[in-house]
Amino acid sequence: MHSFEQLRQQMIDYQLVARGLHDQTVLNALSAVPREKFIPTELVEFAYRDSPLPIEASQTISQPYIVALMTAALKLKKNDRVLEVGTGSGYAAAVLAEISNDVYTVERHKILADTARERLKDLGYTNVQVLHGDGTLGWSEHAPFDAIIVAAGGPEVPETLKQQLAIGGRLVIPVGASLDTQKLMRIERISDDVYKEENLGGVRFVPLIGAAGWEDEEAQSATIARTEPTLPELIYQSSEHFAIIDDVNLDNLMERIGDSRVVLLGEASHGSAEFYEMRARITKELIEKKGFTIVAAEADWPDAAHINNYIQGKEPDALLQSQPFSRFPTWMWANQSVLDFTHWLKAHNEKISSGDDRVGFYGLDLYSLNSSMEAVLKYLEKVDPVTAEVARTRYGCLMPWVNDFSMYSHAVITKKYRECESEVLIILQTLLRKQMEYSLLDGEKFFDAEENAKLVANAERYYRTMYYAESNSWNQRDTHMFETLQDILEFRGSESKAVIWAHNSHIGDASATQMSASGEINIGQLVRQKYGAKAYNIGFGTDHGTVAAASEWGGPMEIKQVRSSHIDSYEHVCHEVKTDNFLLPLRQPLQELTRKKLLPERLERAIGVIYRPETEMQSHYFYASLPHQFDEYIWFDETRAVEALMKKTTKGMPDTFPFGL
Ligand code: SAM
Repeated sequence: MHSFEQLRQQMIDYQLVARGLHDQTVLNALSAVPREKFIPTELVEFAYRDSPLPIEASQTISQPYIVALMTAALKLKKNDRVLEVGTGSGYAAAVLAEISNDVYTVERHKILADTARERLKDLGYTNVQVLHGDGTLGWSEHAPFDAIIVAAGGPEVPETLKQQLAIGGRLVIPVGASLDTQKLMRIERISDDVYKEENLGGVRFVPLIGAAGWEDEEAQSATIARTEPTLPELIYQSSEHFAIIDDVNLDNLMERIGDSRVVLLGEASHGSAEFYEMRARITKELIEKKGFTIVAAEADWPDAAHINNYIQGKEPDALLQSQPFSRFPTWMWANQSVLDFTHWLKAHNEKISSGDDRVGFYGLDLYSLNSSMEAVLKYLEKVDPVTAEVARTRYGCLMPWVNDFSMYSHAVITKKYRECESEVLIILQTLLRKQMEYSLLDGEKFFDAEENAKLVANAERYYRTMYYAESNSWNQRDTHMFETLQDILEFRGSESKAVIWAHNSHIGDASATQMSASGEINIGQLVRQKYGAKAYNIGFGTDHGTVAAASEWGGPMEIKQVRSSHIDSYEHVCHEVKTDNFLLPLRQPLQELTRKKLLPERLERAIGVIYRPETEMQSHYFYASLPHQFDEYIWFDETRAVEALMKKTTKGMPDTFPFGL
């Protein structure tokens, strides 16, 4: 164990002399001052380390080498009057006092000034006076000084200090435009107004804070706040605020959408009323002001066909019947908000004489193998009973799985059963071959059968690959959605325009999210690739409230509390905005800076038909870059659960199995 004297000698040898510092006066001064007495007790063992150390008031005692270097640069003589700015621990003042007779030192922190005064007195330094104050103003009563040393970094050399130098006096000070690094300047006063400057090299000091230094911490953060608003403030400035959905003025949004052919409207959960209601508001305007005639939803084709028939006046109210939308999760479409919207669609269509201009409601998803097979067979029975018989035999291949298609892939990969791929494809091909003949009878009915036959073919492939390639089956599902959309647009004519209603995870561009790392794509990405600027996708978000969701597959719907969002999430940033509901344009931002600041990836929350607040982080959050993912983001700070319509759940594969989104 070395004594402090030994450590001090080692410091002189290895930290100072070895670095080329040979000024014997300075070396003697540093050998004489017990540095260990200037260090907080718990750090005393590090007193002779070759580094600065922390002291009270979040300040530092400088590295011994820096103290020696600056002192040497002052070229002190015994009779010099010396001013130090930044007493800190009082260590450097003691070193100066070892050399010169008169030392004055100023410290802005009272606790440091008081402690240093006591300490220096206890150590017998009677030639040092300590002042609590702003050292950038010098100490005029004792000026002029033969030497001034500033132990903190300022933005420039304070004029007052230069003025308080005697002719021939030397000032050593770190100066730099940033708070982090400075250059060590030596300034010598040659005459009244002539100063000689010298750069002694790069250094790193705590900031010099005062009238001729940096502003203090509070003023600094106030300045930062004044010049650079926080992200929530930027969002506030860059968004359109609204109180209630009915009163939102959507004129600007309509302008931003421009002549887009496809508008995709997302949702951050399948069970929050505001998302459905706002999508309805926007869709109504798109229909009325921009001639949109297609509403395509993340629902199954045959179920959606019932809504379509209802709004065309061909069937009773689909959502109030027991059959369509009766499989888990029923609340996703059979809810009051959707019901109100379908009533509006029906009333709208009644006012329109031409069938071509009426709005149609379509399903994009593929979880309806059974009812789609049924629909194809029913159609064929009417138009071509012989083909219907053959088709029934072919679809029979899938019969063992009608109660649970999730078992199909299992059986196929264990080679227990053969694949039904060719059977279902042959039915589709037969239909397509006879398109001319069949569609002459009724084009719309043929289209319905064709889409159902495609759905069966895609669903067969989907279930076949589900267990050994999950991302692959996700891609098959979203590709099916995209192809179905293409078919609908083509069927409705070259001028037709579509609104998509689906979860954020389907409509937000997957390439801007964590999904892309696992090779997943989605309809949002595919639509963007195809339509470019003529596609406009809008994501939705919320912080807290209630949501309708189940705890597990096939479980009962519960009204659950949505947890306040994660601190690292986009939702948290939006929650900090001082207004509750807003539209935030991202493709054409009101302020470019806002978009820029939102670009770095953050967490984003996705609640599907399952919500598990206990494991929220693992099961519901993923990383994304919001401005790349969406063209616009609509925020509801608080949301409420959808009001489910009474439905008796029937058995069968859950609508969104196995993703829940
Ligand atoms: N010389 C000190 C020692 O040996 O412990 C180390 C000084 S520390 C690196 C810098 C000190 O400058 C801090 O204690 C800080 O509070 C002080 N300081 C910063 N701006 C000041 C100002 N305008 N007037 C007086 N002291 C100031």
